[in-house]
Amino acid sequence: MGSKSAYLVALMERMAGQAWNFYLNLVASFFLALIFFILQGFPESLEWLWVVPGFLAWGPFEYATHRWFFHSPRSPSHKGHGLHHRRPLDLLAVPFFFSSVVGVVLYQLLVLLIPGRPLSLFLSGMALGYFYYGLIHHTLHHSTLVQRLFSHLYNHHELHHRFPRFNFGVSTTYLDRFLGTQVTEETRPDLSVSVKR
Ligand SMILES: [Zn+2]
Ligand SMILES: [Zn+2]
Repeated sequence: MGSKSAYLVALMERMAGQAWNFYLNLVASFFLALIFFILQGFPESLEWLWVVPGFLAWGPFEYATHRWFFHSPRSPSHKGHGLHHRRPLDLLAVPFFFSSVVGVVLYQLLVLLIPGRPLSLFLSGMALGYFYYGLIHHTLHHSTLVQRLFSHLYNHHELHHRFPRFNFGVSTTYLDRFLGTQVTEETRPDLSVSVKR
């Protein structure tokens, strides 16, 4: 059992480092948003507005998974995420089917509270948030145009790479502000780092 799960983790780690998995993960998150959108039939009248709170819920979900899952030493993603911190230009992503598994689990949990149709639209918004996160995170590292256009996000995330205990929000910055984990050029802890760079 122990060796089997170790083998599975090794397999997932190997998959996480493949470029095809990175692109497939991006495509899968877009299709997940689309599938949830039409899962219970095409939304009628203003029902589609459930997508909006779902999209907004992505920010707290992203912050929580980044802070308490990717940065937790006990998490199976800790090593892979550490690799992204050291080599931010490498194409790394969780295995492409993870978002669908999380989507199904969230559906099963939340359907006890929210009726199916609004819930699938809400989850469509969350999946859209994940797609947006995938795009913005990738381009913040690779595109100077995006770095200029979204300079507040670029500076925020660039500081996270240097000071991993701060700035856990990637597509947003407000949660770090509210939860006391924000660092800026003015408040960063180690000024000597910038002098050497
Ligand atoms: Zn990054
Ligand atoms: Zn991180």
